Amino acid sequence: MGANAIVEGVEVSTLHWIGGQRVASDESFADVSPIHGTTIAEVARGGAREADLAVRAAREAFPGWASTPPAERARILHAVGEGIERRVPELAAVETADNGSLLRSMRNSVMPRVAHNFHFFADKLARLAHEGFETRGHTNRVSWDPAGVAAVVTPWNAPLMLATWRVAPALAAGNAVVLKPPEWAPLTASMLADAAHEAGLPDGVLNVLQGVGEEAGAALVSHPGVARVAFTGSVATGRLVAAGAAANLTPVSLELGGKSPFVAFADADLDAVVRQAVNQYDNAGQVCLAGTRLLVEDPIHDEFLERLTRAVAGLRQGDPREEATDLGPLVAREHFDRVDGFVKRARADGARAAIGGGPNDELGGLYYRPTLFVDAPEGSEILTQEVFGPVLTLQRFSGEDEAVALANATDYGLAAILYTGDPGRAERVSSRLVAGTVWVNCFFVRDLRAPFGGSRNSGIGREGGVWSFDFYADVKNVCTAPWTR
Ligand code: NAD
Repeated sequence: MGANAIVEGVEVSTLHWIGGQRVASDESFADVSPIHGTTIAEVARGGAREADLAVRAAREAFPGWASTPPAERARILHAVGEGIERRVPELAAVETADNGSLLRSMRNSVMPRVAHNFHFFADKLARLAHEGFETRGHTNRVSWDPAGVAAVVTPWNAPLMLATWRVAPALAAGNAVVLKPPEWAPLTASMLADAAHEAGLPDGVLNVLQGVGEEAGAALVSHPGVARVAFTGSVATGRLVAAGAAANLTPVSLELGGKSPFVAFADADLDAVVRQAVNQYDNAGQVCLAGTRLLVEDPIHDEFLERLTRAVAGLRQGDPREEATDLGPLVAREHFDRVDGFVKRARADGARAAIGGGPNDELGGLYYRPTLFVDAPEGSEILTQEVFGPVLTLQRFSGEDEAVALANATDYGLAAILYTGDPGRAERVSSRLVAGTVWVNCFFVRDLRAPFGGSRNSGIGREGGVWSFDFYADVKNVCTAPWTR
């Protein structure tokens, strides 16, 4: 195993980053690009030994970082953000090679948002307001004390964005971090370590542990030296992570899967509805928040279907590095087969593909046709389970009660999208939807001040703004009696 790989002309370390040093493992795993199916890097395959090394390094670095004045921590975090800004083209190229996401989105929006994660939480830290109040002459002072080592485990669909959305607030709150990136897209985390080092983040404050989930990930989240576990991924893994953390009573923040409803009433702007419905195929449908269940009111249902079919036929599928591409490949063969399994079972259950319905045979490889199912039987798998691919369903409804009943008819509760021209209806319906985020006449407008997370099986906890500090810190109240002398 070499220590570095050259990916799209960018040199990336394939080793762990622990205690300010590159650390090797005896074994490696192959990192395969979904674009051409070739191995782009052999990456260090950590396990219990490396997880322990990383947690120890983090614990050693923790007291120094925790006692660093907030203004200095904020300064360093801003410098990390600036380092990311300088690396946007390289980070974008490597992320695209790693997971097949569109290069133009990586370059134009995602990587700048990665930098923003650092700038935002650095600013938030500097302005964190400590609430003070009085009780019969006693003063109460609330503080957010650094908790210790935060373990951050992340998925492959937006690797660096989702990693930094947890790493930045964890560091801002004064914690040391061990980040375990996904084995299907491990490389940009390694580049983040370089940016953090260059920005002057002290050794051991951020560690990157490479490896496979069941090995490195499982060892990390169940490590007794970890004070917080922040996990983003599937519901099934979330259960394992929660169980691993439970042995040590380590608090967990879980951001899990979704099967979000996209509800369009007949009084909505149909042009906007169709445009936004097409966007649910973004990132080849590998987006946790995607509104994959289209629920459309009777009077506009048929016209909507006709217009959506036409719009989807115009999407360009191909190499995600090309500017004109709308849909890239799925991330890995195993995931492709999983998506295809959902599609085959949906057909067997009686659903009909109005659009797509299988692999893109012209392109081959991991390209899957954007697919829309109609006539899926109530309660069937395709209407209730997350596919995490370019597969949507369409159902019709009549009136608010039926819309709400259908929208809430899964075990998930991550997001909901609602289109209506009536502000009163928007308020009534959004208050009845079970979801961490409801977007009314919009989608994916994300402000880091807003709480973010999932209801029901879509997660535990909320992050964003002060909610992130509530999770990554030990919130403490100091109640002091009146001074008598
Ligand atoms: P996954 O659960 O398979 O893996 C996520 C991470 O967990 C990876 O780093 C993996 O290596 C690690 N892991 C696997 N097994 C582990 C174990 N036993 N112990 C500890 N760690 C382990 O998920 P995925 O396939 O990488 O990502 C897709 C899922 O993530 C989808 O369900 C999607 O909806 C969800 N997701 C949720 C959000 C959100 O914000 N709610 C965002 C993005 C993705």
